[in-house]
Amino acid sequence: MLASIGHVTAPLKTRINLAIIESFPIDLYLGSLSAVKAVPSKKLELKNPAILAFFSDFDGTITDEDSNDFMIDNFGMGRPARRELLLKCLHEGLTFREAFRAMIDSVAQNKSFTECCELVRAANIKLDPGFKDFYLYLKSKGIPLVILSSGMSPIIRIIISNLIGDEEAAQLTIIANDVDLRGGDGSPGTWGVQFRHPESPFGHNKDVAISEFREKNPGYTIFFSGDGISDLSASRSATLFVKMREGSGDDLAAHCEKENIPFEGFRSFREVQRGVDAVFDNTLTLEKLCTGRNGHAEWY
Ligand SMILES: [Mg+2]
Repeated sequence: MLASIGHVTAPLKTRINLAIIESFPIDLYLGSLSAVKAVPSKKLELKNPAILAFFSDFDGTITDEDSNDFMIDNFGMGRPARRELLLKCLHEGLTFREAFRAMIDSVAQNKSFTECCELVRAANIKLDPGFKDFYLYLKSKGIPLVILSSGMSPIIRIIISNLIGDEEAAQLTIIANDVDLRGGDGSPGTWGVQFRHPESPFGHNKDVAISEFREKNPGYTIFFSGDGISDLSASRSATLFVKMREGSGDDLAAHCEKENIPFEGFRSFREVQRGVDAVFDNTLTLEKLCTGRNGHAEWY
């Protein structure tokens, strides 16, 4: 179980915490995702027995571009229609599940699933410039990382393997929606998205994994980073980092401001790492961390 949380190692002063981490039933969530490989255990000396966990959205947060947006804008309904549906989610009660299904269906009408995988592989989607160091930082501190995505797991695996290599990618814990091939070969018009929580208005309710982790691991400080409407379901579940990008809709930040949900804006995971490390070192409170859209004005 230790390995399945991905890269959690055994800090000498946090043996008790390790037992808590091991109890996280991550295999419960993995479903049809590929197996997560074991990582050799390495003992670490930690300054504090901090018990932190980091959950994150994938597309547009860990990566610089959203792979679903890329497919929808270029091969499906196009950006104007996609934005219109997202605004209906924010203001007119359309569920993200309904909107996302329509968006992916518009791609599936024109492209096979295999073609989509190849197009995404060739799209040169890049990692946030600070993510790899942040990932290594989390590993070094024994802080678990769980990726929560509304994207389809085969597509995510392709992108992350492209970016950090197969071996590192296989160690990541990714909880996502899946592809529904409907028993076919994924040719145009025969496939779609298979939602993790088909009963949820979000399709994948990201709060479920966070809440179950919190229940199994009381006392943990849990962070979540996201960038869009698919992350609304986690916006009240954890200490929130919101990715800000030039020209993006900033839908999540706008939602948080409207709902008075505290958050910390960031532009790269370098900033997230500074914030998490300051909390880890007990030099920053969560209240001071979450200063809004401009972020870290008080502590950076
Ligand atoms: Mg996103």
